[in-house]
Amino acid sequence: MGTQSDIIQWYRSEKRDLPWRHTKDPYKIWLSEIILQQTRVQQGLPYYLKFVENFPQISDFANASEDQILSLWQGLGYYSRARNMHTAAKTVVNDFGGVFPSTYEEILSLKGVGPYTAAAIASFAFDLPRPVIDGNVFRVISRLFCILSPIDKPQGKKEITQALESIFSNSEPATWNQAIMEFGAMQCTPKKPLCETCPIQEKCLAFEHNKVLELPNKEGKVKVKKMDLRYFDFRYGDKLYIRKRTAGAWKNLYEYPVIEDGLKDFNLVDAIHSFLPQNNSWKLKNKYTCTHLLSHRQISAYFYTIYLDSKPFFLKSNIFEIHKNDLGERYPISTLISKYIQQLENYDK
Ligand code: SF4
Repeated sequence: MGTQSDIIQWYRSEKRDLPWRHTKDPYKIWLSEIILQQTRVQQGLPYYLKFVENFPQISDFANASEDQILSLWQGLGYYSRARNMHTAAKTVVNDFGGVFPSTYEEILSLKGVGPYTAAAIASFAFDLPRPVIDGNVFRVISRLFCILSPIDKPQGKKEITQALESIFSNSEPATWNQAIMEFGAMQCTPKKPLCETCPIQEKCLAFEHNKVLELPNKEGKVKVKKMDLRYFDFRYGDKLYIRKRTAGAWKNLYEYPVIEDGLKDFNLVDAIHSFLPQNNSWKLKNKYTCTHLLSHRQISAYFYTIYLDSKPFFLKSNIFEIHKNDLGERYPISTLISKYIQQLENYDK
């Protein structure tokens, strides 16, 4: 049997039963694919179910408010995915008459959809012969063909693409794409591949040459930038004070007034009075420090819980008042802010 049919046969008997594998609806496949970018299946599954329940049709998604979408997305990270999905859903409604596009090029034109996602939707929903290349596929192919060139360089990518095309199934593109991704996720895993029980072990060149754990070879590592954030949780009675973030990874999420970087000579009193007039009296009730990792950033976060004696007047006009229970409910927040609120609940119940 050929490698292609070995992998497809393995998939038929070993695949996980996941809801998006039972549908040909391109909207639901698109939802699952975007949710699963940079997210494990276990973590993404409840989000997928929540989105399908709240927005059964793409028009429901397009007509939702951004706050609604971000609230449902809360905790999943990489929030630009949710914002881009909203734009893409509106495009489908406005430019494609509410019908999800069915050609690879049209799918690729939607905001937030790259070649990988477009190939996945085109093959899973419309059976178009487009090979999907994600991290799992890169790993399986680089091992199977023992490709030593770095896969994050043009030469390595070219070799992977050619090798993949040589075993791609034009007759069953949807099953093949699912199969090789699942094979990478379950059998040919990054650190502990199950070579002993592998149905293609005899054909695997990396296994033969004892190079399994060296592959895939990557040259460039992403540089992680360090940054400091100091959040000021001002409270007056059952009110607290927030702002909407207007740029970056957390764009359109809500947060406490914040000072970013430049903290060598940090002075808490001066920092507080950069938000409040001098005559506002206040008391520091709690301080919480934590580290938070984003894809390219390592954040040291400091949260100050500050109780005010009178209703504050803020010097920065983009700060507004809400009821404390609405943060994270009506006003979506990042995972970092959630971490702080959780410890605060433990501390202040
Ligand atoms: Fe992956 Fe090991 Fe199978 Fe090769 S033998 S394809 S490295 S699981």
